[in-house]
Amino acid sequence: MDHKLSRRDFSKLLLAGTASSALGMIAPSLPAFAASNRVVIIGGGFGGATATKYLRKLDPSLSITLVEPKTVFHTCPVSNWVITGLKTIPDITQSYTALKNRYRVNVITDSAVAINPSAGTVKLKSGKTLHYDRLIVSPGIDFRWDAIQGF
Ligand SMILES: Cc1cc2nc3c(=O)[nH]c(=O)nc-3n(C[C@H](O)[C@H](O)[C@H](O)COP(=O)(O)OP(=O)(O)OC[C@H]3O[C@@H](n4cnc5c(N)ncnc54)[C@H](O)[C@@H]3O)c2cc1C
Repeated sequence: MDHKLSRRDFSKLLLAGTASSALGMIAPSLPAFAASNRVVIIGGGFGGATATKYLRKLDPSLSITLVEPKTVFHTCPVSNWVITGLKTIPDITQSYTALKNRYRVNVITDSAVAINPSAGTVKLKSGKTLHYDRLIVSPGIDFRWDAIQGF
């Protein structure tokens, strides 16, 4: 049977996870993921960066790692204003400094190349492997120029 997780349920699970990890044990009655606190987020665009920030606000005990190949993010919204000269490129350039310093996120400048869900690992282009308990995949979209023959 499907079970929709309400905001209240989510907070309870997070609290349970926080309590059990603080005690260094896993209570048998809790869902398996409640005691795990390593979250890896792939992609530091609007989706990934927003998820990163709000996870930290929801649970200070989480170990959060963001993987993003670029050192800055250019916001596509408002980019039309740059074209018309109302804004400049620096106006639409966001760094990851606040996520690192204010939200205590481990920001890794790299690309994810493979995910192994059964092992709970993400392989990076640099060859490094990250271990996660929860994974958010938010790499945006891209054109697949070769998807339709002759297109
Ligand atoms: C020209 C333009 C104008 C737009 N204007 C508006 C607007 O006015 N209002 C509006 O609401 N929306 C607008 N949009 C849409 C908006 O930009 C997107 O909806 C939004 O950026 C999607 O967010 P996202 O996080 O899913 O992806 P993205 O913002 O694309 O972020 C994905 C991130 O993932 C990273 N990534 C990709 N692959 C990997 C990998 N393998 N490993 C690690 N990281 C990876 C990328 O480097 C990127 O930083 C516009 C889009 C464009 C192109």
